[in-house]
Amino acid sequence: MPICEICGMEAVEVFDCSRCNAKFCKECGNIKDKLCYDCLGWNSEQLEVDWEDEGGADSWVDDEPH
Ligand SMILES: [Zn+2]
Ligand SMILES: [Zn+2]
Repeated sequence: MPICEICGMEAVEVFDCSRCNAKFCKECGNIKDKLCYDCLGWNSEQLEVDWEDEGGADSWVDDEPH
């Protein structure tokens, strides 16, 4: 059986990526577009980076004891 170059597993059928010529199984790329996941990009889930800017936290700094 051929081996998928993406997951390294034996596959019933592998397809050639049109971009990088990697052999990938149907699990590891888009067989209609003939693109492996490396070329498609794995980011099906986008990582959300939320940088919440508190806008200066100096309200608690001038808390001088008397
Ligand atoms: Zn695979
Ligand atoms: Zn590729």
